[in-house]
Amino acid sequence: MQHEIHRENHPAEILGRSIRNDRVHSSYLLTGAGDLPSTTARDFARALVCRDGQGVACENCDPCRRSREDPETEGIVLDGKGKRGPTYRHVGDHPDLLWVERGPEDTRISIGQVRDIQAALRLGANEGGRRVAVINGAEWLNPQAQNALLRLLEEPPPGTNLVLVASRASAILATIRSRSVRIRFPATSGAGIRDPDASEEVTLIVQTLDAIRDHSVGQLLDFAEQYRGARAPAAESVTELIDVSAEWLCEEVKTRVAHGVSPSSRSLDAHRSLQQLRRDLIQRNANPQMVAERLLLGLRDSVG
Ligand SMILES: [Zn+2]
Repeated sequence: MQHEIHRENHPAEILGRSIRNDRVHSSYLLTGAGDLPSTTARDFARALVCRDGQGVACENCDPCRRSREDPETEGIVLDGKGKRGPTYRHVGDHPDLLWVERGPEDTRISIGQVRDIQAALRLGANEGGRRVAVINGAEWLNPQAQNALLRLLEEPPPGTNLVLVASRASAILATIRSRSVRIRFPATSGAGIRDPDASEEVTLIVQTLDAIRDHSVGQLLDFAEQYRGARAPAAESVTELIDVSAEWLCEEVKTRVAHGVSPSSRSLDAHRSLQQLRRDLIQRNANPQMVAERLLLGLRDSVG
């Protein structure tokens, strides 16, 4: 049984779809290791101002030409204090795409950088479209800077989007996480769900699944409680639960096969019902908490 990564769940595809369906949120949190989250954030910002509105930069319209990678602006060295360099730069030379990260000489993204971005977002778009700010390496925002950011999230200026990119979600205040659509890059590519560097969410899910035979129905329902609340972030967290469960189930089957036990039809059914739950969540807008409950109780039955 192969662990299938469904194209519809790729972060870039989720983001592109939100533009095509005209369901863009004011704030996103992209989490994951490596460069992919920040390059995806840049592509998303460019797609947000593209006149085509198809979820990917068309590369032909004026905003796409302006937002194209430009060695001159990419090479601008930022300084948190705004002395040796500006506190933020642009994506390409597009005036409405703002990019903030930690300056090479700084230990943190400064509160001054956050304030400058807020002021720039409040000015409104130069080009009549959206204004987008990307904060790359948001784990380097200290709590005061995050609190300053919170005010922006509570009252986002119309037509603006904030995209936070962080290596791990745990570095971001819960109050910010709960106001942002969470886009998770698979922590499981490569090292697997038991990677010591996996996020604490992944680790907690794996611990729960490992003990699923010993958990009562009540305990599993309690665990599923964490997926209640605003739909978008809850759905994103349940997507993570489904991804991790699919991989966990594959491990289960491999372990059984290694011990000479052929996979039971029940574990194949469990794999199929995970895919069904994924479709319910994405295509039928099923309630995330209910999807989590069905998943956990279903897995308990199939491996118990
Ligand atoms: Zn375009």
